[in-house]
Amino acid sequence: MHNRALHDWPTELYDAYIFDMDGTIYLGDQLLPGAQRMIEELRHQNRIVRFLSNNPTKDPEQYVEKLKKLGIEVDESDIANTVVTTVGWLKHHYPEAVVFPIAEQPLINALHKAGIRISDDPTKIDIVIASYDRTFDYRKLQIAFDAIWFEKRAFLIATNPDRFCPFPGGRGEPDCAAIIAAIEACTGTTCREVIGKPNPIMLEEALGDTKAEKVIMVGDRLSTDIAMAGACQIDSAMPLTGESTVSDVEAVPEALRPTYVLDRVDRLIPQYLWEQHNWSEERDHTQN
Ligand SMILES: [Mg+2]
Repeated sequence: MHNRALHDWPTELYDAYIFDMDGTIYLGDQLLPGAQRMIEELRHQNRIVRFLSNNPTKDPEQYVEKLKKLGIEVDESDIANTVVTTVGWLKHHYPEAVVFPIAEQPLINALHKAGIRISDDPTKIDIVIASYDRTFDYRKLQIAFDAIWFEKRAFLIATNPDRFCPFPGGRGEPDCAAIIAAIEACTGTTCREVIGKPNPIMLEEALGDTKAEKVIMVGDRLSTDIAMAGACQIDSAMPLTGESTVSDVEAVPEALRPTYVLDRVDRLIPQYLWEQHNWSEERDHTQN
C-alpha cells in the first residue's frame, strides 16, 4: 500500500473493484458522472466488480433494482450490505442464539430466512442487534435494557458504525450509532461487534472466494470505506462526489488517507483507456 499525491490517478487496472454506492456511484437518485461507463469498461476488461453498503434498511434486491433504474445491471450476488453480512456473521459465530433485532423489515426477514431465532422476551434474548432503525422506540430500548442490564444475559452487536446517513443537499438521517449509544448509555455495556465497514468482514463477504490479487476499495467516507481498505492493507480511492473533501483528507494522518483522491469516479480507468475510447469529461455517452 502506498500514498501518492492527491489527484494522482491509477495508471493500471486492478483485478477487483469494490464500490461503496451512495456518494460513489450515485447520490440520492442521481447517477454520478462517468459511473456507468466506468462499470461497463471494468466488465469489458473482465475485472471483478462488487458493491458494498453499510445500510441495513434495504435488501440486496432493492439495490439491484435501484442500480438497474440508474442504468447499471448487477446480480444480487454482486451486492453485500449489512443485512447480508450481519446474518452471515451470526450464522457463523452464533447460529443457536436467540436475537432481538432493533431493525427494519429487511434485516428481520433475512434473519427469519436464515433460521435464526428471534424473540422480544428479555429472559430469552442472547444477542441484541442495534441497527439503522427508523422505527426505534422506547419499547425496543426497554427490551434491550432488560435483556442486557436486568437479565444480564444478552450482549450487544450492531450492523454498522455510521453516525448519520447522508442525504443530498447536505442533510442526513440519524443512523445506527445513535441506537448503539442509547443502549450503551443506559446499560453501561460496550457493543461487542460492529459488522459494517470499516470491519474487514465486509470486504471478505464482497470478495467471497474470488481469487483477486490486486483489490481496490472505492468509497467517499474516510471513517468507513477508506479505513476498511487500510485495515485490509489494500489500495483505496476516494471520489470527492460524496461526503469527504480534500481538506478532510489533509486533516487525517497519512496512514488513514486514500491511495487516490478522484474528482470523478471514472478516473479509476487509466488514462491510456480514456484515450483509446476517446473519453472526455464533457463527453460521456452514457450520461443523460
Ligand atoms: Mg458512501
